[in-house]
Amino acid sequence: MNVRDSEVICGLLTTNGYKLTTNSDEADVIIFNTCSVRQHAEDKVWSEIGRYKKGKSLSGTVPLIGVVGCMAQNYKEHIFDRAPQVDFVVGPPDIHKTPMIISSLIATKGQSPKSGDSPLLQRKIWETDGNLRPEEIYHTGFYEDKEHAYVVISEGCSNFCSYCVVPYVRGELKNRKHEDILSEIEEAIGKGITKITLLGQNVNAYQSTVNLQELLKMVNKIKGLKEFDFVTSHPKDTSIELFRVMQECDKLKKFFHLPVQSGSDRILGLMNRQYTRKFYLDLADKYRKIVKDGILTTDIIVGFPTEGEEDFQDTYNLVKDIEFNAAFIFKYSPRPNTGALKFNDDVPKQEKERRHKAILELQKKISRGKK
Ligand code: SF4
Repeated sequence: MNVRDSEVICGLLTTNGYKLTTNSDEADVIIFNTCSVRQHAEDKVWSEIGRYKKGKSLSGTVPLIGVVGCMAQNYKEHIFDRAPQVDFVVGPPDIHKTPMIISSLIATKGQSPKSGDSPLLQRKIWETDGNLRPEEIYHTGFYEDKEHAYVVISEGCSNFCSYCVVPYVRGELKNRKHEDILSEIEEAIGKGITKITLLGQNVNAYQSTVNLQELLKMVNKIKGLKEFDFVTSHPKDTSIELFRVMQECDKLKKFFHLPVQSGSDRILGLMNRQYTRKFYLDLADKYRKIVKDGILTTDIIVGFPTEGEEDFQDTYNLVKDIEFNAAFIFKYSPRPNTGALKFNDDVPKQEKERRHKAILELQKKISRGKK
């Protein structure tokens, strides 16, 4: 989603006459698109921003520095306290305002504050109160790859899993109209794109006048499209009908990413995942029976508060039983605003590392066997 948001910002800026550079030494504006999903991601951003203390660009100007994305939404104007070199902060629902913010900062740059103005207010802009993104932002035709494009079908999430910051920084689930999605795909194909990934934080909860299954069938019929897939799904919104549609659509990749997060019913309850271990095992079984040669991948969090050895063994054994094609394993890290903050982060760091390593090793063995 962040990769696509960066493209959206690049598209908006280039249509407003800006040129892109990957060389920060020659940039007049430097934008950090940020992620808040784990503390580690945020730490990396703070350290990167720290490298850009004020200095002149090759064109002789002091570059403007902007922070956009989930950290912008998370910290709002407080980013300026920690990183005073930052000039503007834009949350995900407000990214369409980025060109306007930059041009207004450029216009006021170097001017002395008018009498009565706070110099801080004149130099700093933050926009983090938006709700709906305007549809136009998805139609600038900017895709980094020549053949593959990410297409957002929904944004935000209303599930409030207790470890997850997404509903707080991206807002609740908002669906694009299916007509708009289809026309973006057709426009992209007109530019030479042949492969598409449909994106949503909870992609299979998609619902406009059609649901995800119906949308997939419509996308499958688009002329010029060779291949497509969709991420990321939630088990509670996964139906047998989805598997049938996956099997039936010839252009749809037989690839399904279905985060399980834990194999322990007790931990799944604390995570507010709204399904049980058995429910997940049944889904995985039905997927493999219905979708021929289907790839199944997952996400797992180890070391969630109160996770004991028995809970961990439940997860370990689930990985062993299901034999995922790949699994992304993360150590729990407390996130601001989330429900899990009320629990004590009581699994010691070393123990989280041991569990992480154990599942990683197991998955490596399984993945090797599947090659
Ligand atoms: S479904 Fe995914 S994005 Fe939504 S709250 Fe849960 S983990 Fe976060």
